Amino acid sequence: MAVHYQPQVQLDTGKIKSFEALLRWRNPKFGNVPPLKFIPLAEETGLITSIGAWVIDHVCAQIAQWRQKGWAGFRVAVNISPKQFLDPGLAGLIGRTLEKYKLPASVLEIEITEGAMEDKGHILKVLSSLKEMGLTISVDDFGTGYSSLNYLKKFPVDILKIDQSFVRELENSQKDAAITKTIIHLAHQLGLEVVAEGVEEQGQVEFLQSARCQKAQGYFFSRPVPAEEVEKQLFV
Ligand code: C2E
Ligand code: CA
Ligand code: CA
Repeated sequence: MAVHYQPQVQLDTGKIKSFEALLRWRNPKFGNVPPLKFIPLAEETGLITSIGAWVIDHVCAQIAQWRQKGWAGFRVAVNISPKQFLDPGLAGLIGRTLEKYKLPASVLEIEITEGAMEDKGHILKVLSSLKEMGLTISVDDFGTGYSSLNYLKKFPVDILKIDQSFVRELENSQKDAAITKTIIHLAHQLGLEVVAEGVEEQGQVEFLQSARCQKAQGYFFSRPVPAEEVEKQLFV
């Protein structure tokens, strides 16, 4: 298993202050297995808890190593699947891992999908503990779940991530353009940050800039790359 990092670019300055950590699995028999295949399997078998703990440990170790080299002041977002949120020890585990590597909580961001917010009581507790610890909370694939907007009032959310299905057709579909603008506006009105994902073209970047979307990530800027590649590209 390995973790790749995809930079998130600030659209006003072009600077990179955050990354998303994405899990990679290279199997000797099957080659590269995409996360969309193995994550659901790991959820079914219960393995997701130990895989999730490994990702958090691995990412924190990497951040600590970068900080030792003097590369600080950025944050890494880790995907947490709905099943992982069922583990009552999640917040404790994250807290202990940050301590182990002597990291401030501000270096970590948690990505949670809208669907996971449906289980109100338990998830609210976990997210509130994480928020109190100082972590950043972002809603992944925003706009694709079935949950009501009500959770935005109740949950301690910091960031909305516009799903790539809206970004893909931004330039050809008036509906996708309208939805994207509306999500950006909603985020601004709520005082949240907004990130567009799956940005592949210059035209999409221009649209997002003029709509005042703060950050973007996608193949236009960089694919998810191994840590060494991040170092070569950015920390020189
Ligand atoms: P996601 O969290 O929505 O991640 C974004 C996906 O879009 C990633 O796919 C990324 O490689 C891909 N992507 C980034 N930029 C572009 C672009 O410009 N165009 C296109 N077409 N795609 C782009 P990936 O790495 O295959 O991950 C798929 C999903 O697997 C993730 O979706 C996430 O839900 C899950 N996943 C990945 N790593 C982890 C992990 O460590 N833990 C958990 N629980 N889930 C993970
Ligand atoms: Ca994500
Ligand atoms: Ca996403």
